[in-house]
Amino acid sequence: MRYTSTRGQAPALDFADVLLAGLAPDGGLYVPERWPTVSPDEIASFATRRYAEVATDIMARFIGDSIPRADLAAIVDAAYRDFDHPGIAPLRQLDAGEWILELFHGPTLSFKDYALQVVGLLFDHVLRRRKLHMTVVGATSGDTGSAAIEAVRDRDSITAFILHPEGRVTDVQRRQMTTVTSKNIHNIAVQGNFDDCQALVKQMFGDAAFRDRLRLTAVNSINWARVMAQVVYYFTSASALGAPNRVPAFAVPTGNFGDAFAGHVARRMGLAIPQMIIATNRNDILVRLLATGTYRKGAVFASVTPSIDIQVSSNFERLLLELENNDPAVVKARMGGLEQSGEFQISPAALAKMRAEFDGCAVSENQTLACMREVLTASGILIDPHTAVGVVAGRALWRERKTPMVYLSTAHPAKFPDAVAEATRGEAPLPRRLADLHQRPERFDVLPNDLAKVKAYVEARATS
Ligand SMILES: *Cc1c(COP(=O)(O)O)cnc(C)c1O
Repeated sequence: MRYTSTRGQAPALDFADVLLAGLAPDGGLYVPERWPTVSPDEIASFATRRYAEVATDIMARFIGDSIPRADLAAIVDAAYRDFDHPGIAPLRQLDAGEWILELFHGPTLSFKDYALQVVGLLFDHVLRRRKLHMTVVGATSGDTGSAAIEAVRDRDSITAFILHPEGRVTDVQRRQMTTVTSKNIHNIAVQGNFDDCQALVKQMFGDAAFRDRLRLTAVNSINWARVMAQVVYYFTSASALGAPNRVPAFAVPTGNFGDAFAGHVARRMGLAIPQMIIATNRNDILVRLLATGTYRKGAVFASVTPSIDIQVSSNFERLLLELENNDPAVVKARMGGLEQSGEFQISPAALAKMRAEFDGCAVSENQTLACMREVLTASGILIDPHTAVGVVAGRALWRERKTPMVYLSTAHPAKFPDAVAEATRGEAPLPRRLADLHQRPERFDVLPNDLAKVKAYVEARATS
């Protein structure tokens, strides 16, 4: 399987090279040359197979002969071995026709573990085979950072620098990162917001000499391997509910659009998802795009759902390529416009295509908190605020009540104790593996939102 850049100016690569590259050298994102397919019989068979087996099966189609199948199977098995539910990504019924897809059974309690546990092991596998060392640089709005750190901690092949916006992640989120004191992990609190952190990372990648000297790589959701791993639970949950005969709709709390795009990929592979709902908080760039055809950066608002406080949804570039007739020149022009003026317009035809594939809804904080309260009262289930954003949006836009609705539950409520307290006056105890989190020592450095200073910090520690 070969991959090309959304901007069309980078050489085609195989999976292992795409994994290590993260962002393409022309600033674009890698996408597979074509979508592999899954037959209806295969989809039906997923219902009776272990999660790790299905994951290996689906990922093998994207990896091709880049990694031997037996090695991949061992990596995937190891990645999910420590998850605390035997179903890995179990469904839980919320109400008639409504299901929560629990994606918080990994080591850091967010859905990001589902991809990053695999990606960390894939990296280590490829780097060791090539006798290489690399520098991971990533920006996090909260959950990516800890999931990435857990995925690469203590690996000799990698040094990792994770930037988070100072004071804009929860205590639990920060501690999940900063209490990992492994030698190869460096936490940086940037005096700015998440988009500032993401811009710093993009600029470091934009400096070719710096990038090559340090062998920079990304593990944030622009890395194709992450999207690939997230495709799996769309298939497993749909099969559990009767696919291919009965395929559920999905509502996805969305920030960088990696998770929702993975659902789109599942569709392209043959899973006939009848409705995909993009659920955002006040930071609603994608919902505004659906309404107006204009993709325009807005100010970032801090909310009770910090992991989706994002006003530039990086993975949208992958969808844009498809919407614009797979013409990378158009993508390049549009993204250039975004950099120049903070916005671009998609063509009317592209907008029509997007509306045929996605619905979108921006959810207020009051709706989010009210939903957490209501779900707890009605079903006895405490959901995290991001999940609640999905539930509100899904219920508002659910087109066909005969179709089951699956809400992606992207985090465990214990990650967001303030929202839980505000919504329910209750507490969400941390699972056993994190029970002593607040007693563990922290290590991190605070840096200004200043590219030169951040680069100097990274350079001094990556090469020593
Ligand atoms: C990262 C994250 C999201 C958003 O996922 P994207 O792939 O960036 O759209 C939603 N919920 C939680 C809890 C997250 O950590």
